[in-house]
Amino acid sequence: MQKQHTAICNSLIDKLRKNTFLSYDEYLFLIKNKDCCAEYLYHNASQVRKSVYSNKIYIRGLIEFTNYCKNNCFYCGIRRDNKNADRYRLSEEEILSCADYGYDLGFRTFVLQGGEDSYYTDEILCRIVSSLKEKHPDCAVTLSLGERSFESYKALKEAGADRYLLRHETADEQHYGMLHPSQMSFKNRIACLNNLKQLGYQVGAGFMVGSPFQTQENLASELMFLKKFNPHMVGIGPFIAHRDTPFHDYPCATAQLTLFMLGLVRLTLPKVLLPATTALGTVDPLGREKGIKAGANVLMPNLSPAAVRKKYMLYDNKICTGDEAAQCIECLKKRITATGCEIEIGRGDYKGERNG
Ligand code: SAH
Repeated sequence: MQKQHTAICNSLIDKLRKNTFLSYDEYLFLIKNKDCCAEYLYHNASQVRKSVYSNKIYIRGLIEFTNYCKNNCFYCGIRRDNKNADRYRLSEEEILSCADYGYDLGFRTFVLQGGEDSYYTDEILCRIVSSLKEKHPDCAVTLSLGERSFESYKALKEAGADRYLLRHETADEQHYGMLHPSQMSFKNRIACLNNLKQLGYQVGAGFMVGSPFQTQENLASELMFLKKFNPHMVGIGPFIAHRDTPFHDYPCATAQLTLFMLGLVRLTLPKVLLPATTALGTVDPLGREKGIKAGANVLMPNLSPAAVRKKYMLYDNKICTGDEAAQCIECLKKRITATGCEIEIGRGDYKGERNG
């Protein structure tokens, strides 16, 4: 039985590599039988990554500039109702000096990420984006600020932002409702993603693997959704419980399932920018290296000042919250070299046809 399944799975993986899509039932079959074909998937996903991006791994400097948030997502450690979160905001000067420091370390993409914090008005954010672009015209600016209006996304784009990361979190509307309070809606999340695309951003969607109530069917739907939406980037990482959230008792996702999904995403969207996330490095000490071997081609080390790092705790036991950025880079360089890859200095743009 097992042998037969391996043969079917391997031929589905060959088919996926050749056609870059499968039917929902075929994806589901692979997910259900992942243990008998994972190595074969990683081997193929790795080859596809190499054929598009050679052995280059792109790095993004992540600046977590605020942990204030008006939302109350059931999984997230910086949710509004977490009274134990020690809140902080970085000033414009602090954000710019993080980027200067990152520039000297070789970063050419800065990702500004934060909770949904109305303190940062369009005016303030546009000023930050345009100052960043003025100081470092050879750099890309990525924003990850959650849901905003079309006008706000437009103003930020005009100020110079290049890319936007907004994980849809789950492609199933009903499941979305189980992860978020009723004030938040799946429809709005998707409308935001469509608006971002329309405005010409390079767009990153994505989901959590193993979030509470997620089924294998949901995971198959993720791949159908991603194929259709065709984002430039896909951020996926394992769900990890945070002690001060309603989901504190739910089990964390495994690295294995996350790696398997990374491999499937690489074969479904061969040119996609695919990070091996910090969350993956948290559930498995070698998670990021394994992520690269499963098809990932991006790493997003933290550039936030050491003093605030422990405060941007989306989930428990997050790694790399104690080190200086320079130390993190040295450590990552070694880890990447060990996988046979190397860090690319440069903006690291999408290699597909819609490069902006
Ligand atoms: N406010 C922004 C940034 C969110 S934080 C936004 O809404 O897009 C970035 C990502 O961290 C989220 O999209 C979510 O997928 C992930 N995340 C949050 N809590 C998590 C948890 N407990 N485990 C794993 N990932 C989590």
